[in-house]
Amino acid sequence: MKPDLFQAPDYYNLDELLTDEHKLVRDAAREWVKRDVSPIIEEYAQRAEFPEQIIEGLAGIGAFGPYIPEEYGGAGLDQISYGLIMQEIERGDSGVRSTASVQSSLVMYPIWKYGTEEQRQKYLPKLASGEWMGCFGLTEPDHGSNPGGMTTNYKDMGDHYLLNGAKMWISNAPFAQVAVVWAKNEEGRIHGLIVERGMEGFSTPETHNKWSLRASATGELIFDNVKVPKENLLPNKTGLGAPLGCLDSARYGIAWGAIGAAMDCYDTALRYSKERTQFGKPIGGFQLQQKKLAEMITEITKAQLLTWRLGVLRNEGKATSAQISMAKRNNVDMAINIAREARQMLGGMGITGEYSIMRHMMNLESVITYEGTHDIHLLITGFDVTGLNAFK
Ligand SMILES: Cc1cc2nc3c(=O)[nH]c(=O)nc-3n(C[C@H](O)[C@H](O)[C@H](O)COP(=O)(O)OP(=O)(O)OC[C@H]3O[C@@H](n4cnc5c(N)ncnc54)[C@H](O)[C@@H]3O)c2cc1C
Repeated sequence: MKPDLFQAPDYYNLDELLTDEHKLVRDAAREWVKRDVSPIIEEYAQRAEFPEQIIEGLAGIGAFGPYIPEEYGGAGLDQISYGLIMQEIERGDSGVRSTASVQSSLVMYPIWKYGTEEQRQKYLPKLASGEWMGCFGLTEPDHGSNPGGMTTNYKDMGDHYLLNGAKMWISNAPFAQVAVVWAKNEEGRIHGLIVERGMEGFSTPETHNKWSLRASATGELIFDNVKVPKENLLPNKTGLGAPLGCLDSARYGIAWGAIGAAMDCYDTALRYSKERTQFGKPIGGFQLQQKKLAEMITEITKAQLLTWRLGVLRNEGKATSAQISMAKRNNVDMAINIAREARQMLGGMGITGEYSIMRHMMNLESVITYEGTHDIHLLITGFDVTGLNAFK
């Protein structure tokens, strides 16, 4: 792979909207990605393997629980710092960002928000340091966009719960020590349970043959009469709103992350357009190539503004789920379109692992599908502005 020469575009001087702390956090993440992710990521993606050696570095830049209070081992940062960390990691690879998103927003967040003090003390410091990795089981083989239809369930056996069912498409599942699992009780109410590797009847087969997020491990969660201790139930929030609260936090991080992937594709294509000569001049001198680059930087700038504003609203506790949906949908769509255009600008070289663009493009096919598909987020916006539910 080519050396990482990334230079972040900032067409509207958005750095002026960031605090010194934001810039410090962002720059530390950027340097780490250049040093520890870029040189190895293409090889791991080609091999379809998660690079476990980067876990310590992810913890070091505060990627595990950026906004979780320091008393629980988190970085205690605000929402814009959290977003900037996700942006920088996904600039390197969406699969690596997925690992961090799951750990922070889908595992640490529910334990922090919905768990007991004992659960927080037991799990959060180990998850923040990367000593333990976690996964989040919501999607099932027959229930993806409609998670409320889930059939995974548990029964109260007096001194423990008995968990049965299966989850599918679960990021980090093959190596996670801890799984936050959403299941229905005997009344059909959804609750979160913390399931640990090693519990009898719990297995996590890996999902193979992915063309996307190849550097992220994906698997199933199978529960065959798993005895879950009663103290592993997350007591403080129930119903579908509980997992959806986690998804708000993760989707917000994805909105930032997608900008990182888009910036990397734009920056690579811009540099290539100045170096690659055809018909006696750099291809960047042709109007058709300039149209692509001009539209890319325009879309990146709009996404940066949208996301920065969303970060301010999140810091103030005012961002709605529908606003987060809009940013996730817009920014991932923006990034995948830029990846496709940028790949064309590199001609044949664009399909190789010499450059990051094709990997970003394939990764974004998962990002546009998970955490609510592109169409589902459109329906959320449609519902929000009309008050009419078009889901069913
Ligand atoms: C790589 C990867 C990692 C993932 N990681 C996780 C994870 O860690 N944890 C987890 O729980 N899940 C995870 N997922 C699952 C992901 O969230 C689901 O794939 C996603 O929610 C879509 O569900 P589905 O694949 O079952 O598609 P379906 O729900 O079957 O949707 C198929 C198509 O139908 C459309 N559709 C569905 N309902 C409607 C409707 N009402 N109106 C119009 N169109 C509709 C969808 O938009 C989509 O285009 C992951 C997925 C992938 C690919």
